[in-house]
Amino acid sequence: MKGRIRWPLFAFALWLASITLATAQTYPIDHDTYVNDYADLLSDVQETALRKTLIDLRKNRDVEMTVLTIERRSDYGQTVSNEAFATAPFNHWGIGHAARNDGILFLVSRFDRDMRIEVGSSYGATHDAALKQIIDRVIIPKFRLDTYDTGIQIGVNHAIREITGAWPGQYDANIVTRWWTDLKIWLGAFIIVPFGLIGVAVWRTYVAARRRAPRRCPVDGSWMPRVLDEFEHKHLTDGQQKEEQLASKEYDVWICRDCDHVTIKGFQRWFSGQKLCKKCNYATLESTGSQIIYHPTPTSAGTKRTDFRCNHCNADYPVFTILASMGSGSSGGSSGGGSFGGGGGSSSGGGASGSW
Ligand SMILES: [Zn+2]
Ligand SMILES: [Zn+2]
Repeated sequence: MKGRIRWPLFAFALWLASITLATAQTYPIDHDTYVNDYADLLSDVQETALRKTLIDLRKNRDVEMTVLTIERRSDYGQTVSNEAFATAPFNHWGIGHAARNDGILFLVSRFDRDMRIEVGSSYGATHDAALKQIIDRVIIPKFRLDTYDTGIQIGVNHAIREITGAWPGQYDANIVTRWWTDLKIWLGAFIIVPFGLIGVAVWRTYVAARRRAPRRCPVDGSWMPRVLDEFEHKHLTDGQQKEEQLASKEYDVWICRDCDHVTIKGFQRWFSGQKLCKKCNYATLESTGSQIIYHPTPTSAGTKRTDFRCNHCNADYPVFTILASMGSGSSGGSSGGGSFGGGGGSSSGGGASGSW
């Protein structure tokens, strides 16, 4: 009699466990008060430096900021949005002072390719627009280049500047030092970079003008005028014409009036998406897609397959590239210990997000 009852109960318990497991929604553990790098985007040295910055912030301004990196939200059984995901552990962990609600969460979800800086409810929406600018202009460009470490470090510094009015390490600095730091950063972002681009444009115009000047005929030494663009195709091969059409290369042609000698010079265009085809040797090779075959891990390299098709000879073939392993083998957590215990601050969902 007992046996008959036990088995259905056991089956029921198993079934209950299976649906509980399947729908289990968890959140990352707050192993460390300041840095929980579960996606392993920072080296040990960078993690220590970042933790020091955040400890300093708390010491000087009593603001608690924490950096959390994860690989993907689905690892935690979560299908919620970036924003909802950030708010929940923020409130669950209790980041920031309980009464003041002034904590800050810097969340990066690497393979979801989005991030969020969530702020405690006491800030309201005062910093949202500025944080959005920091994410879009400072952090995302670094993340797009896969330099997550730099993006996080610079992003944290900018967020601290926005929230506290001081750059890390300058909490007690006088007004002149602060002003000078602001100016240097402002100059770097808005003056040096654009002026650098203007300089490059001027230089390229100069180089192009020199390049197109008349040349000496190698046969008889007389000056050869450059053939006008609309007539130069007569002297170019099909492949060269294709390169010009795809803007991967630019050709200039000079013809000697005395001996009909023809000189053709090809110039690689900058920022062209066309690569050199290994079959026909023209810069007419285009990527048709890529996929990561093996993801890199902290200890082993990965492999990426990129497929190419030639716009000139129609050859198509894959190219395999090695992806470097993800870093110096730092493992997510730290021995720092400490949790957010003691009923910390909460967030009502203020902050800013971005994706790349
Ligand atoms: Zn000649
Ligand atoms: Zn080809």
